[in-house]
Amino acid sequence: MQNTNNKGSTDSSFQWVTIYKAENTLEANIVKGLILTAGIDCKIKGEMLQGALGEIPFDQAQVSVQVYAIKERHARQILVNYQQVKQSAPDWVCPNCNEHNGSTFDFCWSCETLKND
Ligand SMILES: [Zn+2]
Repeated sequence: MQNTNNKGSTDSSFQWVTIYKAENTLEANIVKGLILTAGIDCKIKGEMLQGALGEIPFDQAQVSVQVYAIKERHARQILVNYQQVKQSAPDWVCPNCNEHNGSTFDFCWSCETLKND
């Protein structure tokens, strides 16, 4: 007779784990977009603490990106690529609206101006 006392081992695969602590909401959304593009469910934790975008300095935010534990390894591989891109290409400021854009954006996230005007 077998005891099924191993419940919980499956549940832990579906707990949210933090894979990235972003500098701000903007960066968190960049990372989130990359992970979602790879087909991995993810969410941003702490975003609502920041309130409305625009007036509040980005550096006030404590934002982390979370994925299910079962996807953690895959997501971290994506982050490695992201951080290499981030180092090789600087962030840029939109010439149209002066918004600060991450290097992985080809278009301004705010007004959709093309990066290379
Ligand atoms: Zn813009």
